[in-house]
This record gives sequence, structure tokens and C-alpha cells, in this order.
Amino acid sequence: MTRPPSTVAVIGAGPAGLMAAERLAQAGLRVVVHERMPSVARKFLMAGRGGLNLTHSEPLEPFLNRYDAAAQGRIKSWLDAFSPADLIAWVEGLGQPTFVGSSGRVFPKAMKASPLLRAWLARLEELGVEVRTRSCWTGWRDGALTFDTPDGQRIERPDAVILALGGASWAKLGSDAAWVPALEQAGAAVAPFRPSNVGFDVAWSSLFRDRFAGTPLKGVALTHGGGTVRGEAMIAAYGIEGGGIYALSAGLRKAVERDGSTVLTLDLRPDLSVEALTQRLSKPRGKDSLSNLLRKAARLDAAAVALLREGGSLPAEPAELAARIKDVALTLTGVQGLSRAISSAGGVMLDAVDERLMLQARPGVFAAGEMLDWEAPTGGYLLQAAFASGVVAAEGVRIWLDGR
Ligand SMILES: Cc1cc2nc3c(=O)[nH]c(=O)nc-3n(C[C@H](O)[C@H](O)[C@H](O)COP(=O)(O)OP(=O)(O)OC[C@H]3O[C@@H](n4cnc5c(N)ncnc54)[C@H](O)[C@@H]3O)c2cc1C
Repeated sequence: MTRPPSTVAVIGAGPAGLMAAERLAQAGLRVVVHERMPSVARKFLMAGRGGLNLTHSEPLEPFLNRYDAAAQGRIKSWLDAFSPADLIAWVEGLGQPTFVGSSGRVFPKAMKASPLLRAWLARLEELGVEVRTRSCWTGWRDGALTFDTPDGQRIERPDAVILALGGASWAKLGSDAAWVPALEQAGAAVAPFRPSNVGFDVAWSSLFRDRFAGTPLKGVALTHGGGTVRGEAMIAAYGIEGGGIYALSAGLRKAVERDGSTVLTLDLRPDLSVEALTQRLSKPRGKDSLSNLLRKAARLDAAAVALLREGGSLPAEPAELAARIKDVALTLTGVQGLSRAISSAGGVMLDAVDERLMLQARPGVFAAGEMLDWEAPTGGYLLQAAFASGVVAAEGVRIWLDGR
């Protein structure tokens, strides 16, 4: 007589959980996905609103360097199991062509998540994956999993479990980190969640804030803690946000939390040297005001000129003015909260799971995705690691069940 297939509970229907579910079902296991929200993958759909940056096309070494140093070894093994090229092939296999944007980021041509998710859910259904929404995991009782459902509490005893519960940002999309006490009680160490890819407070003058909140500073270079990135920063009413800021956000956050504030430096014309700018600013300006000179000769837009003026009155001498344009100091006085952060740092510590992502303290229970303690900027690195860790956890479950 053949034995019925083992049952695996995947808890959390985001990219990590659904990817694990697909791999497990393909391996012939019975898979039940539990999702606490009324529908699946809400954060993934939200990521799609910004174009759905799936991964990045850069080579493996710089790719890996985007992750926090402590996590890079683990993430390398995840990317070995499911590389950016594998991710692109998987997306295309679901009927969604991709393209590489000018910055090297990879997007689906549809620039949103919904067609991809639709095709993916159809595939999961074909594979026999059962998805239960409004099924909120609340912990363990006598070794069994407990769930709150609209029909009351349910108890389940699957053969293995993958937790893919997400981080702690944008809690209204489902990932609320309410699971932390249950995991700590089970003996898994969890690093406190902190906002990542997040904006910072700046004490703008009310004039500047009222006129320029929502205006981008394009093509600037941002420097902090020895690192420089080129990109865009967005002026916000509370301070500053955007891709260039997110790329530095781990170091900025640590500095603000440690020292109360930190100074970020902006180069408003990174493609011109001080000398070249000085030369441009030295041309006779006739009746032009200083602002007009800055617009015409230095090609600064109104927001960049106003930002320069936020730092106090401007020097008249061209070389000093050029130096100021290339070295605008912004004091960041606070970090925006988790509710508005694109992702979170913290979560189940990587040494609380083995190489296959099984909890050391709870054999048969695996963890994947953003609920693990790693951090990366935007650029496709978040989704890549979430998907890849789902693949690793699914393979871990398969091996563990085989070995029983
Ligand atoms: C606005 C925004 C834009 C983004 N854009 C990008 C981007 O372009 N590129 C990129 O790489 N990343 C982006 N991200 C980040 C990316 O979406 C996340 O890193 C990714 O979704 C994490 O996947 P995950 O499966 O680990 O967790 P999640 O997607 O958070 O999924 C976890 C799931 O678990 C469920 N859950 C939680 N607790 C329980 C429980 N107790 N019981 C049952 N279910 C539970 C949650 O409801 C959720 O559905 C963006 C994020 C945001 C907020």
C-alpha cells in the first residue's frame, strides 16, 4: 500500500510562502497555505504599484554586497539555489516577459504584480495547493498549530511547517509581526524589528516645506558613512525619502538611533567638478539674480536652489558657491516609523535556523522571507531574497521529510 503524501502547512501567502508552496507541491507533497488576510500577497501587489522591481541584473558579487554584511553568507546560498536568472525565467514561465531598466533593475513588462500573481495562483491551484485565507496562525498548543478562523479556533498537525510571515512594515497589508512572542517562547531568538528603506526627518523651513514637499531631487549623489550613491531623493513634508535615501538607509538609521541625528551630504551636480562649476558660475551674469544664475549656469532646478538656500545665505564668490553646490549638508533628526517603511530589518536571527532554514529550536518548522533577520535596499534585492529563501525552505522540508 502506498502511503498518502505528507502534509506541509505554509503559513503566510506572500512571495516567500507561495514560492515554497509551489516547490513543495511540485515535489508531490500535500500543501495547505494559511493566510490571515482575506486575500493573498497584499504586500506583493503593493510592490507592483511601484513597477514591481523583481530583481537586479548586476553580477553576483556587487549584488550580494547590497545585503547587510552579517547575512551575506546565508544569502549567497539562497541565490545559489534560486538566482536572479532563475527568478527571471520563473516569471517568464508564468507568461510575464521582463525587461532590464536603465538602472539595471529588472521589471515585468506589465509593470505590476497582478497578472503575474493571477497566473501563479492558477498554477498553484493546478498543483493542488489549498489556500485558506482568514486563517491566522496564533502559535502552538501541545505541539499542534493553532489558527483563528471565522469558524473559530482550528488545530492542525501537519508533518512539517514553513513560516513565511513577512517582516513588520506596512502592517495593514498583513505582516504585523504578532507572531514574535510565539517564536520566542518556542526558543527562537528574534532581533527587534526596525524600519528599513524608510524616510528621515529634516527640520525644513515652513517656506521650503510648503513649496517643495513632493518634489524630487534628481540625479544627485548622496554620501553618508563613507558610502556614496547616485540616485533620486524626494522632498517630503516631514523630511526626505526616495531610492537614493533607501540605499543608505541602514547606516543612516543606525547613526540617528545611536547619536540622535546624523549629517547626510548631497552633491547637486555630481557630474561636474568644482572647477567646471566654478568656471560656469564665473561668467558675467548681467542682470540675472543669483537664483537665475544657479538655474542657467549650474542647471539647478527651483527645488535644488531652494535647498541650497536652506543652508543659509549663499556665498557670492564662484568657487565657494560651486563647493557649496557639491556639498550640501542635511541634518537628519529622526527615522520614520515601521508603518511607512518599505521593509524591515530584524526578525528571526539567522543563527536560530540551520542552513536549510529549519528552526534549531523546533525541528520540522522552517522560516523564510522577510521574517528572517536580513536587510537590503530597494532595487529588487528584497523580493529576490524572499523568493529564494522560499525555495531553500521548501527543499529543506523535502529533505527533512525524506530523512524521517
Ligand atoms: C510599498 C512597497 C513597495 C515595495 N516594492 C518592492 C519592489 O519593487 N521590489 C522588491 O524587491 N521589494 C519590494 N517591496 C518589499 C517586498 O514586497 C517584501 O520584501 C516581500 O513582500 C516580502 O515577502 P515575504 O513573503 O517574506 O512577506 P510578505 O509579502 O509580507 O508576506 C507575508 C504574509 O504572511 C501573512 N501573515 C503574517 N502573519 C500571519 C499569521 N499569523 N497567520 C497567517 N498569515 C500571516 C501576511 O498577511 C502576509 O500576506 C515593497 C514593499 C512595499 C511595502
